[in-house]
Amino acid sequence: MSAVEYAFFRILRLFRRLPANPLSVGNKKVIFLEYFKGFDKVEAVQGIFGARTTEVLSHLKVELSWLMGYMYVDGSDGHLVISKGYLNKGNRTDIYLDLIHELCHVKQFMEGKELFDPKYEYVDRPTEIAAYRYAVQEARRLGLSEERIRCYLRTEWMDDEAFLRLAKSVNVAAPTLHYKP
Ligand SMILES: [Zn+2]
Repeated sequence: MSAVEYAFFRILRLFRRLPANPLSVGNKKVIFLEYFKGFDKVEAVQGIFGARTTEVLSHLKVELSWLMGYMYVDGSDGHLVISKGYLNKGNRTDIYLDLIHELCHVKQFMEGKELFDPKYEYVDRPTEIAAYRYAVQEARRLGLSEERIRCYLRTEWMDDEAFLRLAKSVNVAAPTLHYKP
């Protein structure tokens, strides 16, 4: 999941044809497995890439971005872009679940799927729903409460209606509404 995913994908599309992405200037590139050591041993990650997990993660490039936001997969070559600020200050559980979510997108990209299909709204896009479902499944396995999972799903760029649609698509119960008598 990523706010940048939503906010920047249109902008990134515009820059795609340029020889150098101006938004990438000054960004450091690292290899996923060298940066996130041991991730190839994580069951949820092995569930995405199977026998190719170590191979994929030792080739996957990660761009550490100075831009604000969270993380997203670059639709031009499938590398992962992560906001340095988010890595430094974000909640560890959220970051972990986001990485699981984004690795689903990496797999989808490898399968030739269109990650930012503009035919769909963000919360209705099949690639997003699949990635959210997998992250929610992992969140439950970790023992997170439904309330905490709702909190994870809810991001600042989703309005109530979009959030409820997403929650329903990934089988997370909507919050109980309290009516004043
Ligand atoms: Zn996503």
